Amino acid sequence: AKEATSGKITMKRLDMTKISAAELDAALKRPSQKSSETILNIIKPIIENVRNDGDKAVLSYTHQFEKATSLTSPVLRAPFPEAFMQLPAETIAAIDVSFENIRKFHAAQKEERLDVETMPGVICSRFSRPIEAVGLYVPGGTAVLPSTALMLGVPAMVAGCKKIVLASPPRADGSITPEIVYVAHKVGAESIVLAGGAQAIAAMAYGTESVSKVDKILGPGNQFVTAAKMFVSNDTNAGVSIDMPAGPSEVLVIADKDANPAFVASDLLSQAEHGVDSQVILIAIDLNESQLAAIEDELDRQAKALPRVDIVRGAIAHSLTIVVKTIDEAMEISNQYAPEHLILQIKEADKVVDQVMNAGSVFIGEWTPESVGDYSAGVNHSLPTYGYAKQYSGVNLGSFVKHITSSNLTAEGLRNVGAAVMQLAKVEELEAHRRAVSIRLDYMSRL
Ligand code: NAD
Repeated sequence: AKEATSGKITMKRLDMTKISAAELDAALKRPSQKSSETILNIIKPIIENVRNDGDKAVLSYTHQFEKATSLTSPVLRAPFPEAFMQLPAETIAAIDVSFENIRKFHAAQKEERLDVETMPGVICSRFSRPIEAVGLYVPGGTAVLPSTALMLGVPAMVAGCKKIVLASPPRADGSITPEIVYVAHKVGAESIVLAGGAQAIAAMAYGTESVSKVDKILGPGNQFVTAAKMFVSNDTNAGVSIDMPAGPSEVLVIADKDANPAFVASDLLSQAEHGVDSQVILIAIDLNESQLAAIEDELDRQAKALPRVDIVRGAIAHSLTIVVKTIDEAMEISNQYAPEHLILQIKEADKVVDQVMNAGSVFIGEWTPESVGDYSAGVNHSLPTYGYAKQYSGVNLGSFVKHITSSNLTAEGLRNVGAAVMQLAKVEELEAHRRAVSIRLDYMSRL
């Protein structure tokens, strides 16, 4: 069907007093994605070729997809040449401010070592260690995304990952945007893989002659990137894990009578401009017709002034306003939807945060637009989408470490816990397990 290119840009309105729970469910469905089977059939041969032919295959895909035919090596190694990170002073300053805030917030997430004496002489501990080598995918395409490089690179640096590999599709002239090179330099990246899509993911998962193999791959990307990440994380030959399944960006804004219509509209639009597959939802608490109309008029007016108005039109076409009576109703719907971003433009918003059960990141009150979290406040913007906020956390310091546990028993400790161990080993008919305890207890009794 031909998309509308003119007319009022407005979201469908649903009144909770007039619809059933089933109708609400249907309305909150995310826009459907291209069948994963189709995408899988495209990425499988790409991954296979990179595994078999290494650099040669990666380069040929970069020549094909990025048109960067002059490129002769798929990797740029640190130290990165100064000439590759020439930027206006104000961009450097902005990256530096964001870097520092993200660093501070993630450094504070470091966990203390945990020691617990579960019984006298039985000490259980837990401590964390950085994942040694991480691969950070920074999407390319048409956008320049230094913020994504920061959100992945800074926590990796803070966690102490020994090898940080960035991957991003180069521009047609074979170069990488200087903002990304500058961030790679600041976080101490080992290299930048000049490739995108499934070929970049495969190169980092299996390693090539010049691309370092990594232990975990993180970062957003299009459906080819996401499918490739899922594929390699399921391949035991790769021995690589991933952060989380990524889907199109989304926001849910809850607004009451106190909310400024212009602010509400601007927040909805700042997600809608991400892509035609983005979804934005407004839950309006007890607004009357003229208050709803004020937000709708603002949305239309602001949208038409945006450079990406066509993308916005696409996103708004499958977005909606839900009108409810109370904050409790609003929170119930929000928790059911589990938005990537939740914006609370309501009176005493901080009091409502206790009711948030499922969300990637929450933006509280009228002075907190989501953009601050996207770039510079310090929180991470790599967040679970598509309802995965029900079970996944966004990227955080914990994404770059693993926990190791240890037990340390004294003779008294083994005497205290030994009987339980031996009895359970007996129940499970694992005699060697039982004996590993009894042999020691016997030894002690002979002392
Ligand atoms: P991308 O870097 O994700 O993908 C580019 C690569 O896609 C190319 O290098 C190519 O390998 C591959 N590709 C494209 N067409 C292909 C085809 N027909 N067959 C096989 N491979 C193909 O860049 P993009 O495409 O611009 O997508 C960026 C994505 O990242 C968007 O979906 C955007 O929503 C998402 N994003 C998310 C966040 C976030 O934090 N949630 C941030 C930024 C971007």
